[in-house]
Order: sequence, then structure tokens, then C-alpha cells
Amino acid sequence: MNRDLPLQVAIDGPAASGKTTVARATARRLGILNLDTGAMYRAVAYLALRTGTDVDNDSALVRMLDQQPVTVELDQSAPLGFRVFGGGQELGERDLQANDVTAIVSAVSANPGVRAAMVVSQQAIASRWPVVMAGRDIGTVVLPNAQVKIYLTASTGARIYRRRLQLERAGVNVDSHRLAQEIEERDRLDATRAVSPLAPAADAHVIDSSDINADEVVDKICAIVANAR
Ligand code: C5P
Repeated sequence: MNRDLPLQVAIDGPAASGKTTVARATARRLGILNLDTGAMYRAVAYLALRTGTDVDNDSALVRMLDQQPVTVELDQSAPLGFRVFGGGQELGERDLQANDVTAIVSAVSANPGVRAAMVVSQQAIASRWPVVMAGRDIGTVVLPNAQVKIYLTASTGARIYRRRLQLERAGVNVDSHRLAQEIEERDRLDATRAVSPLAPAADAHVIDSSDINADEVVDKICAIVANAR
């Protein structure tokens, strides 16, 4: 294990597998920072909608980000443990979880220039502070030397249930019929894209959270962290 680095706990997994909740609770328990990188890609998608930028036009999206950068501030007192800014304003859960943002976020995040911009700031954060970072490519691409890598999965049924709760909490309208389709379609796009596809790192610990609650997942992760130290 690399003891020179600040502690890095990478949590990857498919949509609605519980990463956001588990990453936040793990970071709290370990007393370190938390960043859910999905929020950053959602912020890019939000800005693309607001500026009318084509979701498949990588260079137009990169130009948009030059003018309206997406930035994050790690703040343990914020509800999610971090704040996301885009276009000069803080973006809340209701903006980031909106159905029209979710509908295009996988297309937006398949663009290599967009990913490069997000990865630079993710790596800069993790090089300075101990952090739990959740996403799709954290253990494989963003933090390949993370001391602990987790791949969090859950059954489709459990993921639909969690996503419904997350959307209700964010005050977003939930259409039950669309939830399963949305989750499966995002997973398909995220796992089959050319750049940084969703995949477990070779050295990741796979945790299936279908039948265990978030606290139990956090117990498992903290035990893995304790062993790695
Ligand atoms: O985690 P969340 O569901 O909020 O992520 C939204 C989308 O952002 C994912 O479906 C994926 O397309 C993209 N994403 C990504 N790489 C990450 C995190 C999220 O491509 N590290």
C-alpha cells in the first residue's frame, strides 16, 4: 500500500447502488473529506442544457467549461459533504438530480475533453487531502493508486428503490415506469463508452449491498481501510 499518499478510498459502481450515501457516511466515520464525482458530471450536463450546448460536441462542451467552469468545494458541514458550482452559482440537489439532467448526463460524460477537465480537479483534491471519492472510474483511472478500492453493486430492484428515495428527498418528480429504464440505460452507456468505462478495478473489493443497509456497508469498508493501514 502507498503510505506516502493521503488516504484515498475509491468507491465505484453502477447507478443508484448506494455510492452517494455510503461515501458520505464512510467519510464521516473516517473523519475525512467526501466527493461524489457524479455531481460534477451532472453540473456539466446542467450547464449544457442551460447554454444549449450539443451533448455530443466535445470541443463545444470544453469551451463552455472554459467560460463557466465546474468547481467543487469540500465542506464537511454541507449536506453532501461538498458543494458544486457551475456558471457562477451553487447547484443544489434539485438542479443536479432533475430528470432532464439525468437524461443527458451519460452522453455528456462520454466526451474525453469533459472527462479530462473533471479528472484534473479530482486528482488535485485527492493529492492534497484524505478523501472518499465516489464515481465510475475512480479506482481505474482517477486514483489508480488508491489504498482502498470498493466496487459497490446491488440488484436492480434495490437500486430502483434507492433511486426513488433519493429523488423524493431531492424534491424531483418520480415516474416509476421510467426509473428502471433510466437506470439500465445509464449503466449500459456508462459501461460501454470508449473512455473510462464503468468497470471494477482489478484490485477492488466487490460489495453487494442488495441485502445489507448502508451502515453495514460502511462497517465493511472501514474494516478494509483498517486492514490496509
Ligand atoms: O453517480 P451519478 O448517478 O450521479 O452519476 C451521474 C452520471 O455521471 C453517471 O451516469 C455517469 O455517466 C457520469 N459519471 C462518470 N464518471 C464518474 C461519475 C459519474 O462518467 N466518475
